[in-house]
Amino acid sequence: MDIVAPTTHQQAAIEVVETFGAHNYSPLPVVISSAVGVHVTDIDGLHYLDCLSAYSALNFGHRHPALVAAAIEQLGKVTLTSRAFYAEPFGPFVEGLAKLCGKSMVLPMNTGVEAVETAIKTARKWGYEVKGVAEDRATIIVMEGNFHGRSTTVISFSDDPEARTHFGPFTPGFVHVPYGDADALEAAITDDVVAVLLEPIQGEGGVIIPPEGYLRRVREITAAHGVLMIADEIQSGLGRSGETFACDREGVVPDVYILGKALGGGILPLSAVVADADILGVFHPGQHGSTFGGNPLACAVGSAVLDLLSTGELQARSREVGARFRAGLQPLLDRGWATEIRQAGLWLGIDVDPALGTARELCYRLMAKQVLAKDTHGHTIRFAPPLVISDAEIDEVLEHTLAAFTEADADRR
Ligand code: PLP
Repeated sequence: MDIVAPTTHQQAAIEVVETFGAHNYSPLPVVISSAVGVHVTDIDGLHYLDCLSAYSALNFGHRHPALVAAAIEQLGKVTLTSRAFYAEPFGPFVEGLAKLCGKSMVLPMNTGVEAVETAIKTARKWGYEVKGVAEDRATIIVMEGNFHGRSTTVISFSDDPEARTHFGPFTPGFVHVPYGDADALEAAITDDVVAVLLEPIQGEGGVIIPPEGYLRRVREITAAHGVLMIADEIQSGLGRSGETFACDREGVVPDVYILGKALGGGILPLSAVVADADILGVFHPGQHGSTFGGNPLACAVGSAVLDLLSTGELQARSREVGARFRAGLQPLLDRGWATEIRQAGLWLGIDVDPALGTARELCYRLMAKQVLAKDTHGHTIRFAPPLVISDAEIDEVLEHTLAAFTEADADRR
């Protein structure tokens, strides 16, 4: 098979990682040393097109000049104060993010999973103090096939055995329903249910897009039953799906947004929970926090991210380039090499026909053609190139993708 074997130089670098780093990931064998925009370069000087964007954390590409400039400017002022004091960039960032979301309050954290934890705590406290649920009874409805991160509480409601096995005992208080089934969701609501937590598009699940109208029905059902709708837009948000938020695709405004990844511009971890004050206002000093959450450096970059999103240009590019890429991939379906292609903006999940190979094998073939994409769930390749990718660059990705599938087909004959 036409797979690039790592050079001795790269092999040596990989060996150090595999010797001293815990084996909690299974990376493709490429060691990246520099990157700009869509382009990354390995330690041997070989160029690749990055079509994963660090799982959508690099929506604006590697080292976007406006984001790097904001970081450099802030590096020259102050990087960390902790929340023991007020820091200059904090106010503009939380105000800007609240406005982007059409909400009145923001609670910044660092990683995505911390923001999910924050949203869970918010929903529970709101449930006890505002909704009047009896103590320790609060229940959150979650979706089958969800991915919200890997902390102990968050894996407590994962249904992926790999994420859960030997990590128990787990946090109680979660109930699963099938993703995309609004009737099942409504049937699961009891007086103890405080929130429904969902990804508007399931990213790790393989870019699973719920049926048209599902999010609207979730919105109606949660509103009718006095239950919070919490949208985890950590991977789907900030332009990836062709809109600022994937919920916008159905004109839905959840009660709570959870954001992360691209919010930090691919430079720093920056996440947030965004809601109105009647929900996020449940927190009082000492009840939640993070030493680094909302630090000045992250806030400065976060504000520059909000500026990039303010014109709607990147969201439009996401729609246009995504549609161009999807159209160009049609031969994969026509020839039976892919069994399904799902697309929302510049976010695609391609289910590879198992007769052609695994998604991982196809990712190796793509890598040999200088395209970096990542498999998920065995048979799906996820494409999430930076939203700044040009037409010429996406055409190049397309050409290499078609070539990789063509070769896989030739090799099996
Ligand atoms: N939620 C969703 C929808 C995600 O896709 C992810 C990460 O892939 C997370 C939460 C967790 O984010 P982090 O890895 O920054 O903790």
